[in-house]
Amino acid sequence: MNNFDYKRLQGKRLSFVPSGIVIGDWMSETGPVPGQEQAQEQMLDCGEVGLVSLARIADAAQYYLRLTNHSQRPQLAALVCAATADLRALSFYFPITNRLDEEERPAFFRFMDSIVRHPNFRVRAFGEREANVTDQLLLDLPGMIAGHLAEAFFYRPDILDRFMSSPRNFWLYTNQQTFEAGGGLAGGDYHPEKEAIELVMSRLYEGYDGATPGVAPFLHELGHMLDHYDCASLRLAHSKGTLPGLNREDGPLFTPLARTSFIKGKQLEQQRYAAYQTGRARDGDPWPIGHPYVFQNDTEFIAGHFEMFFRNPNYFAAQNPDLYAGFSQLFKQDPRRYWPLDFPFYRDENRKVYVERHKISAQNTSVPRD
Ligand SMILES: [Zn+2]
Repeated sequence: MNNFDYKRLQGKRLSFVPSGIVIGDWMSETGPVPGQEQAQEQMLDCGEVGLVSLARIADAAQYYLRLTNHSQRPQLAALVCAATADLRALSFYFPITNRLDEEERPAFFRFMDSIVRHPNFRVRAFGEREANVTDQLLLDLPGMIAGHLAEAFFYRPDILDRFMSSPRNFWLYTNQQTFEAGGGLAGGDYHPEKEAIELVMSRLYEGYDGATPGVAPFLHELGHMLDHYDCASLRLAHSKGTLPGLNREDGPLFTPLARTSFIKGKQLEQQRYAAYQTGRARDGDPWPIGHPYVFQNDTEFIAGHFEMFFRNPNYFAAQNPDLYAGFSQLFKQDPRRYWPLDFPFYRDENRKVYVERHKISAQNTSVPRD
């Protein structure tokens, strides 16, 4: 039997087999399923969280299988958070935590905790027949949402503070059926009328099965939500194609340097896209960073680049240093520090369209006036 190596196993999913519990290439010592005595006695060394009973981890896994009609099988790290209510277990999901120093790291988890407890942090969960199951949530789900917010705003707590000064809605659905019954669109959405991000629970754990965190549906929808936020009225009014802090009317949050870089960078992306689309691009000219999808309107542009800033920062920065600077000056961070390698799928899939010379439609984005 393999040793229980938490660092190696924290990103693996747990399954129940007749002979015991399997996590990655590890298997529990004795056969019994949870509820039987021997399994309950087994303690696992879960890194900085300490010793956690396998039975409690297995209970959390079974709880999610029941709640979501078997659609939710989160990684071990989330189960450890669910079983212990210790947010540090979620560090696996947020690469920034690998590069924080010994003062910043505890500060990051305090920040996450303050978001989870914030009265305007409104996570709701819906199950069969739109039943409200919010009170059944374990800490890992709100923790995941808070973690994304903490990662983006760790160096701009002032922006998050303003953003959270009125209710922010995050609606989770137990599975795809309850999501569609509740009016959810596509794989997840930002709904302007409901002023809510709507997502199937399991999608919060998507994209964490490879070497680098990947597909990030929540980050993308958060980009849309931030775009719709108006710092003056504190409401989610309408899309501006920007982020809080990039607009002159954002008061003390306004970051002029970031706005200048963003405008310059966005203009360059538009030029590259138009050159390609009209056949004027020559061999060797740089392609746009993003897929044609992000050129269909301003809100997709900002949401797509917000997501890419946190997933393929190296390619992003190399292609368009100005646009990258717009984001890094706004968020006062450079994700390349904790992303030695990009999430390759985004970079490659986006590039493929241009490399393979696909036909694309005209862009429909605008640049804010200086
Ligand atoms: Zn979108």
